[in-house]
Parts: sequence; structure tokens; C-alpha cells
Amino acid sequence: MRPRHLVTPDPLLPSEVAPGAEAVVVGGGIAGVSAAIVLAERGVRVTVLEAADHLGGRLGAWPERLPDGSEQNVEHGFHAFFRHYYTWRSILRRADPDLTFLSPVPKYPVISATWPAEDLSGLPAAPPLNLLTLALRSKSLTRRELLGADPDAGRALLAYDRATTVAELDDVDAATFLDRLGMTERTRSMLFEAFARSFFCNQGELSAAELVAMFHYYFLGNPEGIGFDVTNTDHATAIWHPLRGYLERHGSEVRTGTRVTGIEPDGQGWRIAGDALDLSTRHVVLALDPGALRSLIAGSSATAAAAPLLAQKCEALRVAPPFAVSRIWFDRDVAPDRAAFSAVSGQPTLDSIAVYSRLEEPSAQWARATGGSVVELHSYSCRLESADSAARAMRDELGVLWPETVQAHVLHSHDRLEATAPAFPPGSAGTRPAVRTDARGLRLAGDFVELPYLAGLMERSAMSGVLAANDVLAELGAAAEPVMGVPQRGLLAGVPRIPRSKR
Ligand SMILES: Cc1cc2nc3c(=O)[nH]c(=O)nc-3n(C[C@H](O)[C@H](O)[C@H](O)COP(=O)(O)OP(=O)(O)OC[C@H]3O[C@@H](n4cnc5c(N)ncnc54)[C@H](O)[C@@H]3O)c2cc1C
Repeated sequence: MRPRHLVTPDPLLPSEVAPGAEAVVVGGGIAGVSAAIVLAERGVRVTVLEAADHLGGRLGAWPERLPDGSEQNVEHGFHAFFRHYYTWRSILRRADPDLTFLSPVPKYPVISATWPAEDLSGLPAAPPLNLLTLALRSKSLTRRELLGADPDAGRALLAYDRATTVAELDDVDAATFLDRLGMTERTRSMLFEAFARSFFCNQGELSAAELVAMFHYYFLGNPEGIGFDVTNTDHATAIWHPLRGYLERHGSEVRTGTRVTGIEPDGQGWRIAGDALDLSTRHVVLALDPGALRSLIAGSSATAAAAPLLAQKCEALRVAPPFAVSRIWFDRDVAPDRAAFSAVSGQPTLDSIAVYSRLEEPSAQWARATGGSVVELHSYSCRLESADSAARAMRDELGVLWPETVQAHVLHSHDRLEATAPAFPPGSAGTRPAVRTDARGLRLAGDFVELPYLAGLMERSAMSGVLAANDVLAELGAAAEPVMGVPQRGLLAGVPRIPRSKR
């Protein structure tokens, strides 16, 4: 199985645009910065407008003063950089061509209070070998279960094809689909629950078509296997400071602390308004989180009137339940055999545990100096109402799984609860906006945008940003940026189903 060339530049087109081209990118997360970098490299004068006082959006990082007087960069949360994130890694190579800031995470266990741990790392890349190896190795998934699964549901997992999968499964929720697979509670809990929740949704609120697409993208159709890397220092130092410098060296202006409050048609282009901001431009990329885009378009009445499809699709955008992140500085280390990253299954709140002091250098340094540890807890789809109550619940659940933390003293914690991730509810395929809109010159990017190619999470953001930049380049007569991706169809896609009477 090999990566596919999804977009190949036309060799007859120039790579650079004619002098004088300008564009504005609103939102400085992965999607916006990916778009800005591609445009800036081709000679477009780019202005990036970002509401926060740092770049990065949900991958951002900012300084936090600890009670002991030391300063650490805290982040939106632990992120896994998968090896098939071809577009995002290509953007990251602008920060460091050798990606020396990424280090592999050797073990990726799923842990639970009820069942023995499962390790998903080190599986072969090609299907069905990866599935068979998992069945042979797994303590949860038995061969009998694999052979005894409902053939239609089992086949749907191996037969991903966008149109067919959406037609067959978008109206079904992921919980019902998993019921049909007929797995035991243990298999379901250890192999599917943790996976499904990584998309910020509970199984009952996630489209089964999206679950099958993501299972193909991350597991069955992933040419690199399911292994991933993490940054060996904080995201500001590793990624955002270097990318900002790169943009500025390519003639871009990056304005952080600049919230856009309205966008309206202005002759052949767009007028962008905000606090102490009023500028006009021909090309705009809106690279916001889904809730922010919905509010911006709802509050920009002339744009909504000029682009009714955009307005309708933005209004239909759904934001996932909040995620909670709690970074804890303990006065002692956790047990030596704890993995640096563990997915958690079967707890009401806690979904993952990252031991930062075993992952990144600034936390490791702090731990060496104090004898403590830095641990981050995530809840990807949190039903609690405040950052404090979520942090308390996650901490209690950590104590059940890792009892040594019950006696540990919390020297400091940084707790957040935020709702900015997109939801993919049943029946929502085709309702999300695409990169190109019915507003000429206005493009969208972000991890909720409907793309022509399969990608997930950070890679979906980066790919949408590059595709938005490509749309601008096409209008300016320049060649596209190449885009690579995974095989877009599953092993059994297109193979006719066996009629029930012949089974
Ligand atoms: C806790 C957590 C863990 C995650 N783990 C992983 C992981 O392991 N692997 C993975 O691939 N993905 C992971 N993700 C998902 C990943 O972070 C997102 O998919 C990605 O960062 C989204 O990038 P984006 O650019 O599309 O959106 P965002 O990062 O949301 O960027 C949007 C930007 O727009 C700005 N903005 C909003 N409104 C305005 C306005 N009016 N004017 C100007 N600017 C504005 C925001 O401040 C923000 O910077 C995780 C996310 C979270 C929260």
C-alpha cells in the first residue's frame, strides 16, 4: 500500500503569481497557517489575522507561570502527529526540513479499569494483515468474533468508499453500527470506544459513515501504519515561532490579537472589519473553528445575502460537546512502567493520559529539577459543566487507573473546558461547507470543511488550507501545491455484497 498523489501541479503553469497579488487569511491555526505559507511562497502578499495573542488555534501554546516561579508553555493539549499526515508534515518541514522536533512514541496502549491493556502500536500497514495481526495479538478481539461479525457491518469497515459509505451509513449512529458488529463488551470497549471518542463525539452522536471513514484513514488504509510521533518540546517552540518567522521572511504580515467581527462584499473583493481593523482584499481564506465561522457569517448580513448557500451551510454547522484538558504538576513521579501516552476506555470522563515529563524536554527538565512529574488528562467529549469539575472527575478517575497518583500532591494545575471542535452527527454528510463557496473570492479551511479527499483532524485542517490556497493560485494562474493522501477506497470497495440467501 502506497500514498497517492491527489493533486499534481500542471508543469505548464508558473509556480509564482504575478507581482501585486494579495490575500487575507482569517484564523491562525493549522488551516490558516498552511494556506498562508503556500500563498506566501508563491509571491502572494498575505496578511494573517488571528484573534488570540498567539498562533496555533487548538494546537497553540502559551506561557504559564508556576507557583515555584518557573515558566512553562502550556498547550491546548497533547497531540499525536501520525506519519500519514503528508500535507501537515510538508508544512511542518518549513519549520524544520528534517522534522527533528518529532520523536516516535513507542507504545500506544488502551487501558481500562476492567480489562487488560491493548497495544495498538507496531501493527503492519496493509489490510487485511493489520486486522488479522490485531486479532491474533489482541487479548480482546477473538478470531471467533472476527469471523462471527455481521457480514454487512464487517464488510462496511473494509469497503470504505465515500459515496457508498455515506449512502449506506451516514444516517446510522456509530453506537448502532458497533452494535451490528456484534462484538463483546470487552472488544468494543478496548478497540472501538477509545478510537471513536478521539473524534470529540460520543458514539450515539457520531455518524457511522464518519467512523468507518476514520477507521479506514487511521488504520486499515494507512500506508504508514498506526504509529505516531509527538513534539519533543512545546508546540510554540517547535512549530509556531518557526512558522511565524518563515511567513514573515516570505513577506507576510501576521497580526495576532486581531479579532475579525464582520466581512462584507466590497466591489470585486471583500471588506474585513474588526477592532481597529478595516481592510479590503480580493482573496480571503476564512480558517476559523466551526462555531466562530457560524457566528461571523451570521453577523455579516450582506455576505449571507450574497452567498445563500454559504450562509445555509454555516448555519447548519454543529460544534461538538466541550473537551476538557487538565495539565497537572505533581510532587512525585508516576510508576516507572506507565506509558508516556495511554488512551483510556470505560471511564465516564477520562479519555487519555499523557506523561509530559516523559515526552517533552521542558517538562522533563522541570521534573528532573523537582523530582515531580507533569501529567495531562483529556476528556474529548465532556458532559461536565466547568473546567474545575471536569479536572476533579478526571483526577479521581486517574487515581482508579494509576493508584500511585492518589497520594501525590498537586503543585499546580492548568484546567480548561472549551467547545471548538466540529461535530459529525448522523445525517450531516453533504451539509458542511466546502473550500470553495458561492461567494467568489471567499474560501474556507478548517477541520470541519468537506474535502474531496479523505483526511482527519490536523491533516484535514492542513489539507483544507492547502486546497484553499490552491483555489487562489488557480485564479491567479499559478500551479497548484501538490497534495498526497492515503488510498481513498478500502480493500473491498466495489466488491459486490454476497446476498443473504447465499451466505
Ligand atoms: C485536546 C485536543 C487534542 C487533540 N488531539 C489531536 C491529535 O492527537 N491528533 C490530531 O490530528 N488532532 C488532534 N486534535 C485536533 C486538532 O487540534 C484540530 O483538528 C486542529 O488543530 C484544528 O485546526 P484549525 O486550524 O482547523 O482550527 P483552529 O485550531 O480552531 O483554528 C482556528 C483559529 O481561528 C481563530 N479565530 C476564531 N475566531 C476568530 C475571529 N473572529 N477572528 C480571527 N481569528 C479567529 C482561533 O483563535 C484559532 O486560532 C486535538 C484537539 C484538541 C482540542
